[in-house]
Amino acid sequence: MTSFHPAAEYQDIRDGVAAVCAQFPGSYWRDLDARRAYPKEFVQTLIREGYLGAMIPEEFGGLGLSLTAAAVILEEIHRSGGNAAACHAQMYTMGTVLRHGSDAQKQQYLPGIADGSIRLQAFGVTEPTSGTDTLALKTTAKRDGDDYIVNGQKIWISRAEHSDLMLLLARTTPRDQAQSKTDGLSVFLIDLRELKGNGVEIRPIRTMINHATTEIFFDNARIPASALIGEEGKGFRYILSGMNSERILIAAECIGDAKWFLGKGSDYARERVVFGKPIGANQGVQFPLARAHAHMMAAEAIVYRAAGMYDAGENPGVEANTAKMLAADASWEAAEACLQTHGGFGFAEEYDVERKFREARLYQVAPISTNLILCFIAERVLGLPKSYGA
Ligand SMILES: Cc1cc2nc3c(=O)[nH]c(=O)nc-3n(C[C@H](O)[C@H](O)[C@H](O)COP(=O)(O)OP(=O)(O)OC[C@H]3O[C@@H](n4cnc5c(N)ncnc54)[C@H](O)[C@@H]3O)c2cc1C
Repeated sequence: MTSFHPAAEYQDIRDGVAAVCAQFPGSYWRDLDARRAYPKEFVQTLIREGYLGAMIPEEFGGLGLSLTAAAVILEEIHRSGGNAAACHAQMYTMGTVLRHGSDAQKQQYLPGIADGSIRLQAFGVTEPTSGTDTLALKTTAKRDGDDYIVNGQKIWISRAEHSDLMLLLARTTPRDQAQSKTDGLSVFLIDLRELKGNGVEIRPIRTMINHATTEIFFDNARIPASALIGEEGKGFRYILSGMNSERILIAAECIGDAKWFLGKGSDYARERVVFGKPIGANQGVQFPLARAHAHMMAAEAIVYRAAGMYDAGENPGVEANTAKMLAADASWEAAEACLQTHGGFGFAEEYDVERKFREARLYQVAPISTNLILCFIAERVLGLPKSYGA
């Protein structure tokens, strides 16, 4: 399938990623899905080829590429039928260290993240009782001499079992004593290798998709004060500044998913003959695929517009959120059209459609749900009263 997109000049990256993905066909992902196992070989190959260090500057051993290039990499993984959720956080969580970490922290971690000897895959924000209301999170980090003592619980923390480090958001000043409602939260880069069984317990959560997600319990976990990123109390700002890149990259994955569903659905519609002709000759089968393609193209344009603005140093909050919502909607529409086109075979594991269908559903909820994006657009663009929070 060919379609215009502003990232066309990255064809060499697309070809390189496609060659890697060709080594990991549907049967690879199907087997992992059945066992809920982590795609270790796939992730190691991506690291070896340098793709996960794409956005790390060359001075720290990365490729020094733009967010647009990183979006192309993730889009291509999903277009090929794979899933980058096992490792995409390695691309955007390191941005918090790069933008807000000290020189010593950058020197200590970024080269290892770039060459794969250190895995930074985990991002610990969500908690069971606060959900989307991040400012209400309850995990605390209390200063104790040269350390902080962490207590609390995180949930839906993906890849924690496959990560050496984790970016942790915790409250360092009680909410009622903080200077403003967004102050009082701090970001720490913590070493899970030292903490596991030592104040930190990680429990996997089995879900409808193969996502290696977990809940994490902190019980007087002692972390060095040197794990603090930037200034104490300013962590919410640091996390927010990384969210645009996360949303744009995940939107690009959704575009890749949409392209996979449309390619798979169209192929099947051409080949499957019922009532003496290909089912794709019926407009009832064509139109949902064609409509989904049109919506995918519109979403793709916004995704790469947002990425271009990010690369130009702008703050594309509206574009990044819009891109995430439209791309997630486009992939879900394409998933629905593809599954329906396959009829009963859409439910058979060997076609991969049901697996990708389940995976595509996540992006209506995470990393930010559609409703919350609509709240943001209503408030920030349309000037409507804020419907949530203080
Ligand atoms: C597989 C998976 C992986 C994840 N990985 C990570 C991770 O690695 N790190 C991490 O920190 N988090 C992670 N998350 C958490 C994810 O970001 C949250 O699930 C998501 O932000 C929604 O939060 P919640 O589940 O608490 O929903 P809630 O906040 O409880 O919301 C529930 C529903 O209510 C709606 N809602 C809530 N408030 C409003 C409102 N004011 N107006 C309208 N609608 C509203 C929401 O849209 C949603 O549909 C993951 C989640 C999943 C499922």
